[in-house]
Amino acid sequence: MTFEDDLQDSVRTIPDYPKPGVMFRDITTLLGDARAFRRAVDQLVHPWAGSKIDKVAGIEARGFILGGAVAHQVSAGFVPIRKKGKLPHQTVRMAYALEYGTDEMEMHVDAIARGERVILVDDLIATGGTAEGAVKLLRQIGADVVAACFIIDLPDLGGAAKLRAMDVPVRTLMAFE
Ligand code: IMP
Repeated sequence: MTFEDDLQDSVRTIPDYPKPGVMFRDITTLLGDARAFRRAVDQLVHPWAGSKIDKVAGIEARGFILGGAVAHQVSAGFVPIRKKGKLPHQTVRMAYALEYGTDEMEMHVDAIARGERVILVDDLIATGGTAEGAVKLLRQIGADVVAACFIIDLPDLGGAAKLRAMDVPVRTLMAFE
């Protein structure tokens, strides 16, 4: 059994959630498995071992769980990117594409200094609309987006390709069709 098969087996698939026809990839089973969680975090940051990372930015909400662990691993600070209206201090805001329509995400205006090296983290990339919004938000305040990391890629939906076209190196650990 390869590493990828092993880790991929720890992701649970829920058919028809949150609506008919969708195969929801549930990482709570991976997070609850100590060995799988550690391996996922280790593998996500492997290419940046030893390089200087100032901040890890996690996308609400599963990106917080992974991002906190990744930040600890690379000795960086953690920055939450949240749905609008949740952060208490002054924020910067960016619209992003949803399946139907748009929404806005925010981060604190002083969370990252200009030129700081940042890794973006979320659990999964599908169409890439969410991550694209996050990269634009980070760049708006002058962050150097070193990479975007996701446990799961849905390559048929083109999100990772979209980020690479924005000159963001993308790291994913497994793919589902
Ligand atoms: P995108 O913007 O289309 O790339 O969708 C990615 C966002 O939707 C991420 O924040 C994911 O957490 C969430 N998402 C979409 N599909 C799934 C899924 O099957 N499992 C878990 N999260 C998902």
